[in-house]
Amino acid sequence: MQFVSHSGKESSPFFFEKHDPRECSQTWQVERGAFDQMLFDNAAEKGAHCRDKTRVTNVLFDGEQASGVELALEDGCSKQVNARVVVDATGLSALLANRLNLKQEYEHLKKIAIWTYFENAERDPGPHGGATIILHTRRKDSWFWFIPLRDNITSVGVVGNRDYMLEGRESPETTFAEELELCEAMQRRLANASEVEKYRVAREFSYGTTKQSGDGWVLVGDAFGFIDPIYSSGVYFALKSGELAADAIVEGFAKDDLSAGQLGKWVADYASGTQWIHKLVNAYYTNEFSFGKFLKQHPHHIGHLTDLLIGRIFHESAGDIFDEMEPAMAEAEKMASSDAAATMDERDNT
Ligand SMILES: Cc1cc2nc3c(=O)[nH]c(=O)nc-3n(C[C@H](O)[C@H](O)[C@H](O)COP(=O)(O)OP(=O)(O)OC[C@H]3O[C@@H](n4cnc5c(N)ncnc54)[C@H](O)[C@@H]3O)c2cc1C
Repeated sequence: MQFVSHSGKESSPFFFEKHDPRECSQTWQVERGAFDQMLFDNAAEKGAHCRDKTRVTNVLFDGEQASGVELALEDGCSKQVNARVVVDATGLSALLANRLNLKQEYEHLKKIAIWTYFENAERDPGPHGGATIILHTRRKDSWFWFIPLRDNITSVGVVGNRDYMLEGRESPETTFAEELELCEAMQRRLANASEVEKYRVAREFSYGTTKQSGDGWVLVGDAFGFIDPIYSSGVYFALKSGELAADAIVEGFAKDDLSAGQLGKWVADYASGTQWIHKLVNAYYTNEFSFGKFLKQHPHHIGHLTDLLIGRIFHESAGDIFDEMEPAMAEAEKMASSDAAATMDERDNT
């Protein structure tokens, strides 16, 4: 993973493999359609009863207790299915969180993303050609991701504040093009590339939930909460929360306890790990703060930061970097605001 300024000034790459030379330190860039199909087929192979082209239209409750779901089948008929536990993994649709009013948007992270896929984008030569690259635009109002996939296809997207990306703009395509104008480093990479799919927009992301389990139900993945995609952590979090919830459910069946407490017994530990990524997201959006400068002053934190980017967040010292990083962020913001005040004073005095 590597961070690049609008003009092309590159941070030192974060080599996951060098930092921790095990297979699990590798990043896998996956095409979601193919990856999701693999998960679906694997679940069926392991004995799950999988239904494609079927929508859950409602979660059924018996008082406070979830008791099943209502389905809209492919042929247009509806059907009710009883279940001892309902796992909401509906992603950004967040079926239960919306129905039970559990969703809480993060006010400072009201972003949208516009993206498409390019053929023939210029990759870095050598073994780093497959790295995810994050590139700032000129005034840091938005940032691009550059994620190389197979067959010379690259996923390229731009993320910015919702108001900034929507107000006075013509269409998602023009917003993308206008932001590209502000990022020479990305222009260079796309100079000979062409779009191979239509542009897509994601508007509803970065939110938490006030409650993640109830009697007979539990939330996982994006239905549990979603944090900005800057560090590509979403699929890992979805898999991790799914695994933890599954363990709690299996244990609950064995104990005949499918209460909110049992189904959500993993949530506190999970939240205490994922908080580090939330903090890292906040650091990225603190424009006055420079990761590069900070790491130069505190080189012993490079390993800690790489650990966080790899996703090694569920251990006691995972957040050690923030002991020094948060004061550095506060200091950078303070200095920027006193510089701004001094400039205003100067202007008033002339
Ligand atoms: C702009 C953007 C860029 C991202 N980039 C990355 C990245 O680079 N790396 C990364 O790891 N993550 C990334 N993410 C995050 C990642 O996509 C999600 O965190 C991840 O897909 C969450 O998995 P999930 O299974 O919870 O939800 P999803 O993958 O969204 O899966 C939910 C599934 O539920 C289905 N569904 C929804 N409602 C119903 C219903 N009522 N009935 C039946 N089925 C339903 C949907 O069709 C879908 O198949 C990005 C997200 C966004 C918005």
